[in-house]
Amino acid sequence: MKSYSPEQIWEMDKNHFIHPYTDFATFKDEGSQVVTGAKGTSITDSSGKSYLDGIAGLWCVNIGHGREEMANAIADQVMQMEYFNPFGHSTNTPGSILAAKLAELAPGDLNHVFYTCGGSTAIDSTIRLIHFYNNVRGKPDKKKIISRNDAYHGSTYVAANLTGIHATKYSFDRIANDWINHVSAANLYRRPLGAENLSEAEYTQFLVNEFENRIIQLGADSVAAFIAEPIMGAGGVLVAPEGYHKAMKAICEKYDILYIADEVVTGFGRLGHFFASKAIYDMQPDIIISAKGITSGYIPLGAAIISEKIYQVISKPQCEGGLFSMGFTYTGHPVACSAALKNIEIMERENICEHVQQVGAYFQEQICSLADLPIVGDCRGSHLMMGVEFVADKTNKTPFPMEAEISKRLFEHCAKLGLIVRPIGNIIVMSPPLTISREESDFATKTFRTSIEKTMDDLK
Ligand code: PLP
Repeated sequence: MKSYSPEQIWEMDKNHFIHPYTDFATFKDEGSQVVTGAKGTSITDSSGKSYLDGIAGLWCVNIGHGREEMANAIADQVMQMEYFNPFGHSTNTPGSILAAKLAELAPGDLNHVFYTCGGSTAIDSTIRLIHFYNNVRGKPDKKKIISRNDAYHGSTYVAANLTGIHATKYSFDRIANDWINHVSAANLYRRPLGAENLSEAEYTQFLVNEFENRIIQLGADSVAAFIAEPIMGAGGVLVAPEGYHKAMKAICEKYDILYIADEVVTGFGRLGHFFASKAIYDMQPDIIISAKGITSGYIPLGAAIISEKIYQVISKPQCEGGLFSMGFTYTGHPVACSAALKNIEIMERENICEHVQQVGAYFQEQICSLADLPIVGDCRGSHLMMGVEFVADKTNKTPFPMEAEISKRLFEHCAKLGLIVRPIGNIIVMSPPLTISREESDFATKTFRTSIEKTMDDLK
């Protein structure tokens, strides 16, 4: 590639590159940070400054940056056979091996894989597949999907409509029918009216009752699936109350509704297991959505891992000439699947899940120790998926006004001190590579504390 100065890159960038989730009010004046290098848990920008990557790229570079083994696996597959289509009776070696490996890693009878190019496309494909499943088994009215406020499920049309984060909706259209519905988020810190003083168990029951009532109101015969992240990510790192996922699954079973676990962030070791649903929450989903950590972000890949029960229905011959008419040019792309296989090999060889169980627990404890600071309202999350919510008044949980630009200030102080965090509203998210050491975890927490103190000084 021809080389360009950072200024030339910035010119091309601002004139031509449409960035995701960008505030165009400030974009052209403030510029972009051009990230030019990455190794292990660090990234470097075009000024040569290096930072601890506190967000693993975008909660995805789980095995850390710049692994030569990954580059070799990708290059080897390109040289061996970069692409041939997997339609009908044609297949490729890495796609087949990876499907079998995912079936082994996924809980219970989740043993068939539909590959996509990322998380959003896996969500959209899953909804299409579920509608097809219900048509085939003679329940064509079962179409509605229940999601949750504050959920994040992606940016394609259906995934964006399933997303429940209010701020993502400005001027974007909603799908003009009633088959996408939202119930309350499971938010222990900010509970809905009537649930403020409940015990954790009572709050779980409150949410479960709301869910069941919604199903009854919509008509159980019209509801196809419930979708939930084990821990809500972009919605603010919200950990559900004790027993929530299991109780929601029981309601799904009662009404013949499928449970889709969106493990795009929580999967592949972030909480110390390949998948969190069963291992942590003792809940067997019908479908797991995976992306991000499946290749540690080295190359795009998504996957919907579905149960034997669903496969038995969708794989039934329909009628003469009737096909399972779903799939992408890049379904099961051999290069992406090779990268995923190498990623899993590295995770298993280096016992990365066990590492997260130890260092992640330490990181969680360290981040939670920030709770003594006057503007820290809530520290939450689990292992290497943590969020801190900032408030103007701790007793009343009063949010900072937008003009205070609280998370922007925090982000900038952290960056000056060599740490990348992710600002979302009044929340700062941290989700470092899973290979983070105790020393790096100490650095992250100390730097974050100093940045919070500096932000408090700014606000005086
Ligand atoms: N689901 C969750 C929980 C996510 O966090 C994301 C992305 O951040 C997605 C789905 C969408 O994935 P992608 O951005 O790969 O389309």
